[in-house]
Amino acid sequence: MSPRLLDVRGLSAGYRGIPAVRDVDLVVDAGEVVALLGPNGAGKTTTLLAVSGLVDRLAGEIAVCGRSTAGMRPAAIARAGVAHVPEDRGLFARLTVRENLRVAARRSRPPIELVLDYFPELAPLIDRRVGLLSCGEQQLLAIARALVADPKLLLVDEMSLGLSPVLVERLLPLVRRVADETGAGVLVVEQHVDLALSIADRAYVLRHGEVALHERGEVLRANPQLLADSYLGGPRAD
Ligand code: ATP
Repeated sequence: MSPRLLDVRGLSAGYRGIPAVRDVDLVVDAGEVVALLGPNGAGKTTTLLAVSGLVDRLAGEIAVCGRSTAGMRPAAIARAGVAHVPEDRGLFARLTVRENLRVAARRSRPPIELVLDYFPELAPLIDRRVGLLSCGEQQLLAIARALVADPKLLLVDEMSLGLSPVLVERLLPLVRRVADETGAGVLVVEQHVDLALSIADRAYVLRHGEVALHERGEVLRANPQLLADSYLGGPRAD
């Protein structure tokens, strides 16, 4: 059995003491791509931020690689193996591609050259300032930057934001490759549901801050109505 990289139990998390997600159970195992889906405001970003320790956990447990993250600061959670690609990509626009990668790289971790194998498009841009890159190139870099930290668990929030569907179609298989080749677990929030499902082993649908559906990717690919119902409000499922 693959090791459990992320184990979220009964999570409530939110802002100024008010929960935006409630009673969320969610797991990610090694080598898995798990999609976190749901309408706007459902709590997807909040869930990712809670895993990274960036929003308050109001109740429940989060364990990364078998270790509870209770009381851990975001930096410690990152050192425990969590890399987070945020919605805004979190890059340093004034620094070059190389400098952005260096900032994230850990000593004795995979060299930048190795990570660039995944993203050959970045190699000729290595000394270019990030602010001069296209949106697609910046997104590639955001993922590359997460990879140089050699994560066990990769959280990717709305990778497709501001990108053309054609680019998204190219980027998402890269995420699959990362999981397959590095054994990292990936939790990906994505608004292009069909594309997300094309690479996901399993998916959770959040609605109004709660898990409305949890199902294997192949089941959802074969039954699109199941997904549509969960967005609109069918019965709760585990
Ligand atoms: P989207 O796809 O629109 O990003 P989402 O599913 O990621 O949506 P969240 O961004 O997690 O949803 O938001 C969940 C709820 O938390 C929403 O009601 C939102 O208004 C609220 N919320 C998000 N960020 C904050 C914040 N910084 N302060 C207060 N409330 C917030």
